[in-house]
Amino acid sequence: MLGEGIAKGLVETARNFIGSYFSKNRLTTVQYPEERLPQIEATRDFPFLVYDGDDWQAGMRCVGCQICEKECPPKCIYIEKSKDKKPDAVGKLQFYPAVFNIDVSVCMSCQICVEVCPFEAIKMDTEFELSTDNRFGGLLWDKARLSKPNAYYGKVHPTDAAASDALLAEEKAKVEAKAKAAGETKTNSELTSPPLATSGATSKQ
Ligand code: SF4
Ligand code: SF4
Repeated sequence: MLGEGIAKGLVETARNFIGSYFSKNRLTTVQYPEERLPQIEATRDFPFLVYDGDDWQAGMRCVGCQICEKECPPKCIYIEKSKDKKPDAVGKLQFYPAVFNIDVSVCMSCQICVEVCPFEAIKMDTEFELSTDNRFGGLLWDKARLSKPNAYYGKVHPTDAAASDALLAEEKAKVEAKAKAAGETKTNSELTSPPLATSGATSKQ
């Protein structure tokens, strides 16, 4: 019947309008900003850089590999790799980003940077109240502005953060096992091979 869909839509709207006076479940909106709907875990807007511990510079997971910069479709990430190295989250010496900027006025929230990062170092945030009249200072974020602790990641995306923590713990255990094995090998070789001085003294005898 002509107009049946429109009639159905109007009936549904009327049911919600009248029903909202009797049941809060009929309300599809809230009085923002006084009231806020809880965000679902899959919410995402702009990326942030994850760090471990209390010091964002020491704990930054990003190693400045620039993969995300290359893969970002609108090219809104700018990275300068450091000249020196610092220990990463698993104690391995790594480069770090001397400069890491994201122009969030260009970012399209595609999450490709997150998908390609091999170090669990960049994740999508849920912070959305970001309006500003300062185009350059307000929307061009540097690494200090982008850095957030792993605890924050666990708060906004608990499921993904738990998986990420498990992955890093597994990698850390592997690195520690490797270091332990290397240490044991060294100790064994020290036990089986006499020190050079002793060896030299022995040969003179
Ligand atoms: S965020 Fe990840 S992919 Fe991007 S530079 Fe840092 S380590 Fe590399
Ligand atoms: S979310 Fe997409 S557009 Fe935004 S910085 Fe990451 S790769 Fe670039």
